[in-house]
Amino acid sequence: MRLILLGPPGCGKGTQSQRLTEKYGIPQLSTGDMLRAAVKAQTPVGLKAGGLMARGELVPDDVVVAIVADRIEQPDAKNGFILDGFPRTVPQAEALDRMLKDKDMRLDAVIELKVDEGILHQRIAKRVAEMQARGEAIRADDTPETLEKRVHAYRLQTAPLVSYYSNHDLLRATDGMASIPEVSAEIDRLLGKGKTAVAAAAAVPRKKAAARKPARRPGAARKAKAAKAAKAKRARRKGAAKATGRRAAAKRRPARKTRRKAINKAGRRG
Ligand code: ADP
Repeated sequence: MRLILLGPPGCGKGTQSQRLTEKYGIPQLSTGDMLRAAVKAQTPVGLKAGGLMARGELVPDDVVVAIVADRIEQPDAKNGFILDGFPRTVPQAEALDRMLKDKDMRLDAVIELKVDEGILHQRIAKRVAEMQARGEAIRADDTPETLEKRVHAYRLQTAPLVSYYSNHDLLRATDGMASIPEVSAEIDRLLGKGKTAVAAAAAVPRKKAAARKPARRPGAARKAKAAKAAKAKRARRKGAAKATGRRAAAKRRPARKTRRKAINKAGRRG
């Protein structure tokens, strides 16, 4: 299964991706996590991306597209993946389409988590508090000012993907304001629905479906015709035998006239 989770920062993409990873055994590919790892490792990509990320701006399309292209080549992504945080712009979505087409792969669904923007600040504040409680380092972009910029970037650059994927008939929207288990259940329901329509078609390509149809064995028509003819022959024989039987019985029984003569003869004798 190949999925995209779409929604603004703090909408719950990461939480739901992790659960889907466990449920379907496919990896979560989070461009945010990959970029943060690159920043930490101070790779050339990390050095390029670090400042932009800290300011709440998007990293250039070509950089992110190259990272994703590399990542989906990995063996663990062979049977599917959940993209979290990618694509984030229409050119990224187009690049992904090309990538998948080259590999003869297709997306199964794009899950949109719809939330009121007002709640995002509360959610990010909660995430910061939880990370602090666990003694983890706080993300450089999890400040109220940067969050505002990230939401703005989402509205401007990422939200157009809703109609992009809707036009591709892949979009499934869910209420991200509901509780975590409720959102999970709704996603399962949406995927169940999507699976019958989309995955079933993907699982059985047309040619194979045709091949699975019980094919008529070569010469089957000829054999059926021969069997029919043999049956008719047997029936004819049976009919003939009946008629012969009647004739034989008739032969054994003397004709009525002969019978009467014999009776008269016997009477005369007696
Ligand atoms: P969020 O919680 O805001 O969704 P992410 O962890 O997905 O955050 O991403 C953090 C930052 O990493 C983004 O604000 C952006 O700077 C950068 N980033 C992640 N994914 C992309 C992408 N697909 N395109 C451009 N920049 C990205």
